[in-house]
Amino acid sequence: MKDSNYLKEHNARSLWHPMAHPADSQANPPTIVTGAQGVRITDIDGHEVVDGVGGLWNVNLGFSCQPIKEAIAAQLDQLPYYSIFRGTTNDAVIQLAEELRAFFEPDGLTRAFYTSGGSDSVETALRLARQYHKIRGEAGRVKFLSLKKGYHGTHFGGASVNGNANFRTQYEPLLPGCHHIPAPYTYRNPFGESDPEKLAQLCLSALEDEIAFQGAGTIAAFIMEPILGAGGVIPPHESFMPGVREICSKHGILLIADEVITAFGRTGSWTGSRHWGVQPDLMSTAKAITNGYFPFGAVMIAEHVAEVFEKDETGRAAIGHGYTYSGHPVGAAAALACLSETLRLNVPENAAARGAQLYQGLLTLQEKFDLIGDVRGGHGLMCAIELVSDRAARTPIDKATTNTVQEVAYRSGAMIRISGPNIILSPPLVLTAEDVDVILAALDAGLAAAR
Ligand code: PMP
Repeated sequence: MKDSNYLKEHNARSLWHPMAHPADSQANPPTIVTGAQGVRITDIDGHEVVDGVGGLWNVNLGFSCQPIKEAIAAQLDQLPYYSIFRGTTNDAVIQLAEELRAFFEPDGLTRAFYTSGGSDSVETALRLARQYHKIRGEAGRVKFLSLKKGYHGTHFGGASVNGNANFRTQYEPLLPGCHHIPAPYTYRNPFGESDPEKLAQLCLSALEDEIAFQGAGTIAAFIMEPILGAGGVIPPHESFMPGVREICSKHGILLIADEVITAFGRTGSWTGSRHWGVQPDLMSTAKAITNGYFPFGAVMIAEHVAEVFEKDETGRAAIGHGYTYSGHPVGAAAALACLSETLRLNVPENAAARGAQLYQGLLTLQEKFDLIGDVRGGHGLMCAIELVSDRAARTPIDKATTNTVQEVAYRSGAMIRISGPNIILSPPLVLTAEDVDVILAALDAGLAAAR
């Protein structure tokens, strides 16, 4: 491997990073990660830290999951690639579809459509929603509703339903017919409501209002994350998603659960929808489906939606959509091994226990540091703290301060993620109580340095 200076210089010279200013890697060279074992990553300068980010919310089983690595190697020998466009299929994709069907049956989802990642899954779900209505003769149902602060990837469809200006403004105009309602975000909302249950009701009323305003017969689907992730970990009140389900059903609107982060155990339940006792019509998944070891995703489809497609006699159900890597056999083999390990380890149990420990630890840090305006979590291993420069006025913190917290936390033993004024924690679901303590101590050091 080339030395640190060489790599940093050439990184800045030739590589643009997602979600970063192209000039930033010159001023602030990124950490060069050289390896990872268990829940720890190592860098070229010799640091070894607990990965409080879990890759990018995807490495649920840590970096040393041997069965997945072996499955990938074996599949590369057996059949490294073949497409599953009309006319061909293979053993790995079929077996996986059966396993996914069994896994998602409690969510009412019984068919799989494969993709190469989360944005692809969102795009697929949005398209299938429109097509579903066209097959049924309701071609006017084309609009999408979603939550402000929601994150649904970066394809034009997903960006259009995204509820965060940072991912939209530079790329407008986006898809027409996408409308957003307030998120159930108790710390900041247009209603000035801090009671989660009352806020959930206000947001549901806003949804009803928007549907009446747009006309129910023009709306294809409502898309939401069961717990908002990239927008800053926003868990709604338990009445919210069931309320959304009821409203969607009443108006013939499909409910798409975007579970790119929440499927496969992160919330302490097997899926985010199950966490709230809701059955969606479509579900987008990716990330932890292969533990991050191979780019892969799946859209899961409810039985009643699948029947509309399968019983169609008009020809409108032919799927004019799919990716070269829809159903990549190596990804399917990785997902099969990953699902088997995820079930064997019963990961939601540890996610719930360690998540409670982490959330409690963050609340304790809030007592110590005025910098922490809000602490969010309490549903498995997805937590956030929102930093403020003035607690009473809730003034969002500046970038320099969050950068200091991150740098010092890293030097003190943990990788944490900054997203605007939020510090987001989404470690592997297999970490131990001691690993959680390392993250909390590192954060403590980072906050102390920024105070
Ligand atoms: N939906 C949600 C809820 C996500 O969190 C993400 C990624 N963080 C995406 C979609 C997009 O996934 P990807 O980055 O794999 O395209």
